[in-house]
Amino acid sequence: MTQNADAPLVLEGSFKRASAPSQLRITDIRIAHVTGAPMRCPLIKMTTNQGIEGYGEVRDAASPQYAAMLRRHLIGENPCDVDRLFRRIKQFGGHARQGGGVSGIEVALMDLAGKAYGVPCYQLMGGKFRDCIRIYCDTDTHGRPDGRAMGEALCKRMQRGFTFLKMDLGISQLAGTTGTISAPLGYLESIAKLQRQTREAADEAAPAEARRRLYDANNVPHPFTGIHLTEKGLDALEAYVAEVRSVIGDEVPLAVDHLGHIAVEDVINLARRVEKYHLAWLEDAIPWQYTDQYLRLSQSTTVPICTGEDIYLKEGFRPLLEARAVSVIHPDLLTAGGMLETKKISDLALEHGVAMAMHMAESPIGALAAVHTAAACENFYVLEYHSADVDWWDDLVLGAAKPLVQQGFITVPEQPGLGIESLNDELIAQHIDPTSPEVWTPTDEWDSDWSHDRLWS
Ligand SMILES: [Mg+2]
Repeated sequence: MTQNADAPLVLEGSFKRASAPSQLRITDIRIAHVTGAPMRCPLIKMTTNQGIEGYGEVRDAASPQYAAMLRRHLIGENPCDVDRLFRRIKQFGGHARQGGGVSGIEVALMDLAGKAYGVPCYQLMGGKFRDCIRIYCDTDTHGRPDGRAMGEALCKRMQRGFTFLKMDLGISQLAGTTGTISAPLGYLESIAKLQRQTREAADEAAPAEARRRLYDANNVPHPFTGIHLTEKGLDALEAYVAEVRSVIGDEVPLAVDHLGHIAVEDVINLARRVEKYHLAWLEDAIPWQYTDQYLRLSQSTTVPICTGEDIYLKEGFRPLLEARAVSVIHPDLLTAGGMLETKKISDLALEHGVAMAMHMAESPIGALAAVHTAAACENFYVLEYHSADVDWWDDLVLGAAKPLVQQGFITVPEQPGLGIESLNDELIAQHIDPTSPEVWTPTDEWDSDWSHDRLWS
C-alpha cells in the first residue's frame, strides 16, 4: 500500500470488509486438509453472514477434528468477540497437537475481527514493535550425512539471506556407528523394526498393531528409555558441530533440535561439549513438563536452554518461567492457544527476562498469524520457517506480498486481518490429503453433538 501521508486513507485491493461488525455472525466452518506444506496442514475457513471469510489452521500434523468438534460453540456467534469465544472453547484444547483446534479457531476469529474493523491483526494486540520479522531456517539431517554436508546446506540458506539457522543434532545420527550409544541390548533394534514395519506400508495400510506399538515406544519419556551417550558418541556429535561451524563460520546464530530421548545427565554432558560452538539454543532436550530437570540443565551449562512448542496456554509456561529454568521460550501459537494467548505468554516471559522465539511448521496462514503476533511482542526473537524447500508454499494464499519470505524476513502485512485476501483453492486441491479429498469439507456432523461440559458440579 502506498499512501501520501497527507492524503485521505484509501485502502487498496479487493479485501471485503463488513459494514456492521456488531451484526457479524459465523455461519459455517470448513476444513481443507493440505499435505506437504511442509507437513499435513488442516486449513480452516470460517464464513459469515456479511461475506467476509476468516482463515485459521490446526497445528501441523494434527487432526482436523480438534477444530471441527468446536463448531457447536461457534455457529451464530459474533467472531469479533474473540476473547469471550476463546474462553468458551479453551477447555477443549490440550498440549501439543491437542491445542491445535482451539488455537486455529482463535486465529480465524482474529482474522475476521481484523477484516470487520479494517485493521491488521497486530493492531488488535496493541500495535507493533517491528515492521519485519526475522525468520530462522530449519534444516533436518535428511540427505546430509555429516557435518560438512550440513554446513554446506546451511551456507545455501545464508546465501538466500537467512540470518539465523537451526539444525538437527542427535542420537539418530549415531545409528549404525558401533559404540556410540549405550542402551538395554535389543531395545533400539526393536524400535527400528517397528519403524520399518510402519514405513514400508502406506500409513493407512500399516499393521495397526505395529503402529500402536511404535506410538507407545515413541511415547517413552527420556528418563525412562535407558539410552545414554558413550564417550565415543559424545565425540562424534561434538565433531559434527565442529565441522558445521568450520563451514558456516562463527558469526551466524545456530540453534540445535531433536537430540533424541536421552536422559538429562547425557544432555548436560553433550551441552558442555558444545559450549565452545556458542549455540543459539538447545531445544526440547527433555520433555517440557520436567521443570526441575530443566532447572538442573540450565544451571549445568552455558548453552541457552529452550522449550515450549508443545505447551498449551500461559499457565503451561508459568512453572518454567518462575523457576528460571529456560533462557528462551519457543511457543507455537497453533498449540499455545492462538494469537492473544501467545501475546500473554510473551509478556509473562518478558517479566522474567526470557526471550521468545516461535515455532512454526505450517502453511502461510499459520506463518502470518505468527508474524502479526511476533510484531506485537516486545521480547520476540526469531520465527521458525520449515518450508524453504517447498516452492508452492506461499502460493496457497492470495493477496499477500510474494514471496512471503524475502532475504530471511517476512514483512508485517498492513492489510486487514492476517493480510490474506483469499485462498488458492486450485492449489489446495492439488495438494489435498487423499484420505480426506474434499476441498473445504463440511463440519455439519458436529452440529448435533452435545455434552454437559461444565468443569465443576
Ligand atoms: Mg522443535
